[in-house]
Amino acid sequence: MIGSSVVVRTRSWIVLCLSGFLGLLTVGAPAAFAADCPGHPDALGTSRTLVVDPREHPRIGTMQYRETLPLKDHEVVLTFDDGPLPKYSNQVLKMLDDECIKATFFIIGGQAKANPEGVRKLVAAGHTVGTHSMNHPLTFDRMPVEKYEPEINGGIEWTSAAMTDPSKLAPFFRIPGLMRAEGVENYLISRGIQVWSADFPADDWRHVSSDRVYQLAIQRLEAKGKGILLLHDIQARTVAALPKIIRDLKARGYRIVHVVPATPDRPATPTTPVEWLLHPPTETVPIARWPAVPNFVFTEARTLPAPALADLNAQSEHQPLLPHRTKGQVDVASTLPVPARDLFAIPEGSVEVLLSTSLSRRAATRMAMAAETPRAGKGKAANAKAGKTHAARTAHAAAAPKHTAQAKSTASKGTAFRPTRVATSVKKRA
Ligand SMILES: [Zn+2]
Repeated sequence: MIGSSVVVRTRSWIVLCLSGFLGLLTVGAPAAFAADCPGHPDALGTSRTLVVDPREHPRIGTMQYRETLPLKDHEVVLTFDDGPLPKYSNQVLKMLDDECIKATFFIIGGQAKANPEGVRKLVAAGHTVGTHSMNHPLTFDRMPVEKYEPEINGGIEWTSAAMTDPSKLAPFFRIPGLMRAEGVENYLISRGIQVWSADFPADDWRHVSSDRVYQLAIQRLEAKGKGILLLHDIQARTVAALPKIIRDLKARGYRIVHVVPATPDRPATPTTPVEWLLHPPTETVPIARWPAVPNFVFTEARTLPAPALADLNAQSEHQPLLPHRTKGQVDVASTLPVPARDLFAIPEGSVEVLLSTSLSRRAATRMAMAAETPRAGKGKAANAKAGKTHAARTAHAAAAPKHTAQAKSTASKGTAFRPTRVATSVKKRA
């Protein structure tokens, strides 16, 4: 069963065939570095194995969740969804093996049922295998438990059935289309299954070129500096992009991390909670916080003292970050005159001047002014119609309080703004 799986060792299938090297990955054993990749001295390799406990960190991937894998700067986890599909999955597998890269695959039950050998190849090559539902419905966000439960279980059943040793199945699940829902997540978590989102996709399921997939993968990784990359091993464009992605990762100094689930025999890699955040707060970054309730002193005084910095939780080590006003600044501030009331008064007839700040605005203004001219017996209706025009709405927003009030009154009568009717109503009037 998935919750009690004991994954002790995995075997590198291709390496085994090619060189007779018995690629056993055991607890505490060093992962394959580039130098350890037989026949491929320039391989990217896998820099380390990260053991995670799904119960401690049940939801990962900053595309959707607060936490993600505790990766160090320039560490990357490769994930592939929707396989296995022999035509493309085998090519992806070969590329990863040639580079001694270990990845995580999220299998669709239907694919495992049709191609069980593909699942066995992944396990034999030492990759981590999780699941991705039975039929890949993109409705997990609105499915009742009677629907999503068999979807999740079907994927697990058929994927583990394809394995020689079903205990090799990792308790990792990625929701199809990342259509998350709390009920689904809670169900998975209650079974000790870790919900995997991602830190960035490369859009390889869209109709884009393989070059675009490569660019997006690198750009988005560079933007975050580390993380879980979401790819699909059933796409021709992914197969075409992967060699370039791998070469570029190597050139830019990225390192591959292989993730495996903790088992009774294999404890989780020790981490601290902040390592599970993409950008943990550091000592040098001031943290915004709500001030605590000040220490009130109840007196009969009619005036209250200004709050001290200490009342606002200002810590002494952060105080140097607060701007200090020089004596000169203080003096200048204390001598500024209070603005006179008439500073804010708008002279009669200046509305058009205020509005006519640009050509397009001038046009909008003309329409608005026309719309604002009440006609005998039709004043209200005209205003209501005018309120429907986008131009008029823009004008209202910038106009004097009188116009704004009119706009509000038309809106409050439930007349929606419909730009298409504006032009005609103004034309008729013109
Ligand atoms: Zn998928």
